[in-house]
Amino acid sequence: MRTETLELLAPAPGLRAGLTVHRFGMPGGAPKAVIQAALHADEVPPLLVAQQLRTRLAALEAAGQVTGEVVLLPYANPLGLAQHPLGLHQGRFDLRDGVNFNRQVPDLSATVADAVAGRLGDDPARNVAVVREALRDAAAALSAEHATQDLKRRLLQLAVDADIVLDLHCDAQAVLHLYALTPQAALAEELGALLGAQAVLLATESGDSPFDEACSRPWLVVQQRYPDHPLPLACFSPTVELRGEADTDHALAAQDADAIVEFLRRRGVIAGAPRPLPAPRCAPTPLAAAEQLNAPAAGVVVFHAAPGERVEAGAVVADLVDIDSGAARPLVAQSAGLLYARMATRWATPGRRVAGIAGTTLQRSGKLLGP
Ligand SMILES: [Zn+2]
Repeated sequence: MRTETLELLAPAPGLRAGLTVHRFGMPGGAPKAVIQAALHADEVPPLLVAQQLRTRLAALEAAGQVTGEVVLLPYANPLGLAQHPLGLHQGRFDLRDGVNFNRQVPDLSATVADAVAGRLGDDPARNVAVVREALRDAAAALSAEHATQDLKRRLLQLAVDADIVLDLHCDAQAVLHLYALTPQAALAEELGALLGAQAVLLATESGDSPFDEACSRPWLVVQQRYPDHPLPLACFSPTVELRGEADTDHALAAQDADAIVEFLRRRGVIAGAPRPLPAPRCAPTPLAAAEQLNAPAAGVVVFHAAPGERVEAGAVVADLVDIDSGAARPLVAQSAGLLYARMATRWATPGRRVAGIAGTTLQRSGKLLGP
């Protein structure tokens, strides 16, 4: 294991911030996998899983079993780890401007699609190499004016030429679930089966360029721009939601790390014969059909359904109790599906997401992710 610290632009004169990176296997080895923990810095379970991964990967490397390259970022957002306004950890939004750390990641799609014009041929492997080189060049050319921009740029530079990027997050209270690109449903289902995911949510574009799509979508855009040249989607970059923010458990973290190593083995990053794939716990569903049950007014939330429960259309998921009248207003599911996440606190402000349901009947449009 080789560890390096990439120095970020100083958050202020006299302050220093660094991004810790562990590398396993041959530098430049293929396939390349990048695993980053807690881009939303207050999502703690990934930080624990990353430690389990570090131990496993170091042992595998010592045994000569890392056949590709693995890049592990044990804490992907040191800037967010330092944000504690009034004692409350705020690791989701940059306190400088309120922008979500996992949105507005530079979208290289157009630059790369232009850069490869006239350079693609009939050989898919050669085309992948051409696109990968253009991605590296485009990421290397990104500039940054402040520390957060620099962080997003550095993370993208590390991941943009990888075959696999696992962006490890968690939700508020949740079962394990994934987000992935629609045409990569088969890979998402395979990873989901290994992790025991209970929802796999697919979209081709969810809006505002989250990190996973900044890595995977350029391939889709180039593929669509040049339909006469064969080009596989050569980067699989799901977001992995490792349950809820309070779900730090040694046994679960070990289980998750084992599942991720097994996925890397199946993809040729780690040597050895893969185990039989467990039966998936769910079929992938469209993110556009994932119901976001929001609070229509302020009030106290009293849940009638927990993460992992299947709800039917018309079911009361929670009551919203008005604190002037005492009236309880039922919050009703429009669609049947699995309740995969719900809020962790119990005071709702108007518009606040109360729960998410992985259904199949809704067709939302516009921005598909929460703020
Ligand atoms: Zn997150």
